[in-house]
Amino acid sequence: MNLVLPAPPIPTVAVEGTDARFPVRRIFCVGRNYAAHAREMGRDPDREPPFFFSKPADAVVDSGETIPYPPQTENLHYEGELVLAIGKGGRDIGETEALNHIWGYAIGNDLTRRDLQLAARELGRPWDFGKAFDHSAIIGPVHPVEKIGHPAKGAIRLSVNGTIKQDADIADLIWSIPEVVSFLSRSIALAPGDLIMTGTPAGVGPLVPGDVCVVSIDGLGDIATSIGARS
Ligand code: MN
Repeated sequence: MNLVLPAPPIPTVAVEGTDARFPVRRIFCVGRNYAAHAREMGRDPDREPPFFFSKPADAVVDSGETIPYPPQTENLHYEGELVLAIGKGGRDIGETEALNHIWGYAIGNDLTRRDLQLAARELGRPWDFGKAFDHSAIIGPVHPVEKIGHPAKGAIRLSVNGTIKQDADIADLIWSIPEVVSFLSRSIALAPGDLIMTGTPAGVGPLVPGDVCVVSIDGLGDIATSIGARS
């Protein structure tokens, strides 16, 4: 194929235990999937249908990197999350089949320009500027299912400069992993390389230049991100 511009690089994330990389196709994110976080965002945690937003695939950043403090915000927030890596695509995936579509699991940090997100929310506008900016998807190494199986419970914790800010359990997801995969696949055909960030527990808060943010999930190790100077 003749391209009129150089093909863009394929975004990738690390895979635990190998130099091989996981190619990222799309990043879907679940909004408000822990009851206590829904309450702290001023919303009813009743089991209304899950909703999703997206980040561009090239927003991914490996663990261990320093990211610039993003522009046009005074309130950058962390959100520690469990991430699903889809290995087998499909649509209308049943809950009993959903786990067969997952290649692995990772730890993520859904960085959010909270001031821009809330302003958009109040005006009924899209969340993109609050959620889908450069360097906004920290994704740690993907742990293959063939090595770790399918985690359904375990502590998820986030600290800033060593102080614990989020401390919950992935068993407390309002919408379980099979339910998230099944629900999303009924609206959009999932494809190999898709990542799904499953939502953050309570305790979200700000990051400022110089901070070090660490997220851990039992069985998946931890990821670290340093916040650099304003870009
Ligand atoms: Mn999130």
